[in-house]
Amino acid sequence: MKKPEVLIVGAGIAGPALAYWLSRNGYRPTVVEHARQLRSGGSAVVVKGPAIPAAEGMGILPRLRELATRARSLTLLDPGGRRVLRLPLTSDGASTVEVTRADLSEVLHRSAQAEAEFLFDDTVTALDQDEGGVDVTFRRSAPRRFDLVVGADGAHSTVRRLVFGPERLFAGDLGLYGATVPLGPDAVEDPTEMTMLTVPNRMLVLHPSRTTPLAIFTFRAARSAPHDRKNVGLHKQTVADAYADVRWRAPEFVTAYLDHPAPFLDPLTTVRVPSWSLGRVVLLGDAAAATALLGDGSSMAMAGAYALAEELAARPGDHARAFAAYESRLRREVGPRQRRVGPLSRLMVPRTRPGLAVRNTVGRAVGRTNRTASREAAPRWTGPAPTGPSPCSRRPLPPDPGGAGAGR
Ligand SMILES: Cc1cc2nc3c(=O)[nH]c(=O)nc-3n(C[C@H](O)[C@H](O)[C@H](O)COP(=O)(O)OP(=O)(O)OC[C@H]3O[C@@H](n4cnc5c(N)ncnc54)[C@H](O)[C@@H]3O)c2cc1C
Repeated sequence: MKKPEVLIVGAGIAGPALAYWLSRNGYRPTVVEHARQLRSGGSAVVVKGPAIPAAEGMGILPRLRELATRARSLTLLDPGGRRVLRLPLTSDGASTVEVTRADLSEVLHRSAQAEAEFLFDDTVTALDQDEGGVDVTFRRSAPRRFDLVVGADGAHSTVRRLVFGPERLFAGDLGLYGATVPLGPDAVEDPTEMTMLTVPNRMLVLHPSRTTPLAIFTFRAARSAPHDRKNVGLHKQTVADAYADVRWRAPEFVTAYLDHPAPFLDPLTTVRVPSWSLGRVVLLGDAAAATALLGDGSSMAMAGAYALAEELAARPGDHARAFAAYESRLRREVGPRQRRVGPLSRLMVPRTRPGLAVRNTVGRAVGRTNRTASREAAPRWTGPAPTGPSPCSRRPLPPDPGGAGAGR
């Protein structure tokens, strides 16, 4: 029997994860990515919650633990660069693994590449669906017909724009930008410590990462500020202006940003789409529901890929019901997170010095909770990986005839 063909747009986190699960469930996935290669920008992301059983099912959890960043504590600095408090981080390696986004993307791609077709340096320009399939026009490749199309192309999704409507209908601007740049290996003294300086409207983090420390800039800008993703000169000017009067190591990190040929900058975007599917097209990951700032968009993307593949496998030939079941499962995970983003952004990047004091008080309370959580989690750090169903899973995936595939 002919395998159903699925086009996945976007080879970030959600795309390769879905390609892996679909290929194991009897589908033929093709992933199209507009970048020439996997994108390497960004900082650290956390694999946790429902993403842990998904990673485990893929056989990649041991590799992710090997690649885990070394950050074990977070030191908060006042605007003058003086230490305010130090918080333990609860990355215990069992229920939470922090890795760089680039490492996670590469591991997922490696897992999927043997079974899925990847088309880099290309994208979709038109999607025309009827009852039997979707006719896809590519920018470079020849037109093809697919049974289903998945938009896993991030917060600024082209699939969403082509099928559901313009970005302004779904994307909300938090008024914050995120920018990152890699630093030299000598940038950190203590490779287990993450350091965060906050002044009103701006945050600056030195993250030890794993091998290459990172400077992370998170700052508030005017909502009307224009953003052109390809205008690197404008990105550099935006970061330099925002941090011109910030002390501590801001001048050094801004210089690294200015010297880098292609530093990362993006507005922190929230995405809310009333329905994630239309006919044979469905949205996944940030394209469906971005939860900027929380750092667990990657976990939601991995859990979403797992759930979507599982629901499609459970309902062969009935993509409409499979899409609805996937959406209802994932909304239970992302809904509460999306409601937290607005208040959290105001707490994490306060506008005023009194707001900063409130943030520090909350930080101390979180620190006390984390100390308890860390102690409870400690024995699991060296223990066996957890097993059991995903919190957002209802039934096990079909058995894997070829075995788990981290090394494929
Ligand atoms: C370069 C980069 C750096 C990031 N850094 C961080 C970070 O530091 N911290 C954090 O919490 N989150 C970060 N994110 C967001 C985080 O990756 C997502 O929240 C999460 O992983 C959800 O994954 P996703 O696959 O839905 O989206 P993404 O990871 O954004 O992946 C989407 C993919 O689709 C591709 N794409 C976009 N448009 C098209 C198109 N028209 N055609 C084909 N391909 C297309 C993109 O190039 C990208 O590879 C970053 C995203 C990117 C792209």
